[in-house]
Amino acid sequence: MTRLALIALVILIFYFLFRWAFAPSPKRGENPDATEMVKDPNCRMYVPKPEAICKTIEGNEHFFCSEKCADEYRNKQQPAS
Ligand SMILES: [Zn+2]
Repeated sequence: MTRLALIALVILIFYFLFRWAFAPSPKRGENPDATEMVKDPNCRMYVPKPEAICKTIEGNEHFFCSEKCADEYRNKQQPAS
């Protein structure tokens, strides 16, 4: 009788193991709250998009870590004549 209980237990363990193995696992590495990172073309630093300073320079959108970088980059793109 004890052996039968043991077999039942093993079957139960396997059942749960299989359920766990084939259960749709939560998507790892896909955090909807993950902040998108943008690259500062001036200092090549990555900045979280909400914190970045967005500037449109010659029709292209660029993200900067600071106003200083934005100005520096703009000066590089449009050299003072
Ligand atoms: Zn910068």
